[in-house]
Amino acid sequence: MNIIDLHCDALLKLTTLEAASFAEDVRIHVNQKRLQLGQIKAQVFAIFIDPDIPRNQQFLEVMRQMEAFHTHVLQTEGMVHITDWAQLEQLAPHEIGAILSLEGCSAIGEDITKLTAVLDAGVKLVGLTWNEENAVAHGAEQDASLGLKPFGKEVIQLLNERDIIIDVSHLNEQSFWDVLPLAKHIIASHSNARALCDHPRNLTDAQAKALVKQGGHIHVVYYPLFISEQDATLDQLVDHVEHLANLVGVEHIGLGSDFDGIGVTVKGLAHAGEAQNLLEALRVRFSAEEVHGIASQNFKRYVKKAATR
Ligand SMILES: [Zn+2]
Repeated sequence: MNIIDLHCDALLKLTTLEAASFAEDVRIHVNQKRLQLGQIKAQVFAIFIDPDIPRNQQFLEVMRQMEAFHTHVLQTEGMVHITDWAQLEQLAPHEIGAILSLEGCSAIGEDITKLTAVLDAGVKLVGLTWNEENAVAHGAEQDASLGLKPFGKEVIQLLNERDIIIDVSHLNEQSFWDVLPLAKHIIASHSNARALCDHPRNLTDAQAKALVKQGGHIHVVYYPLFISEQDATLDQLVDHVEHLANLVGVEHIGLGSDFDGIGVTVKGLAHAGEAQNLLEALRVRFSAEEVHGIASQNFKRYVKKAATR
């Protein structure tokens, strides 16, 4: 059964590992061979910039990762750049959709033209922060009472005008609540339930409910430390899906692995090639139709609302 995965950091590995290759490099969780094996029909590739990189060099790093997306990912046979959501329905059986996202706006500083350039290059989802503070908002590791900044409103306005999906997964609590009423299209691309795993990267029940009420979806993340602990199991990941489904409705849940951004993995879910094991675990507690929804259909329905340009 086909899967749409809303988050991976393969571009970071493709730009940092020596002689990296997207086709079947085993150091990369999300390589093309594994996408095929795991039946990942569309994969979001995040542009993630390490906050330790000096701010004045970060935009150059964004361009390096976009270049890696073109030279490594899109040059591989069968990979198709999704710049219009309607393309998701038009992929041939052997084709895999590749979608760009920006994981945090630190690299644009306070320069909206840099964000415009990134959007012009085909980025379809934008997170306002990673875990740090930037000119836009405060990330998950910041004081939970500090929120969206004035420049952040300008950023959201541009994202809304372009029908870009705003990703809240890395925001701290106040930034989340500030962004919620302003965002036209909103999603949590890789977050779990805080009720089951008390981590600032996870959503409280109140956040999950409000997000979905505002039209958003929640994509669960495979990182053990956001599930429970180092040796978290597939079944415990399904607990998160079940908790969120009971809270907001299973039709608003999807998947966002975070592969290549995580140093430890769940047993049986070590890379994209093992993704079908998760669907199997979901089938124990959900109907075939519900699992189909979680795997891909819920997101396809979601993007039908997000008009394209
Ligand atoms: Zn992340």
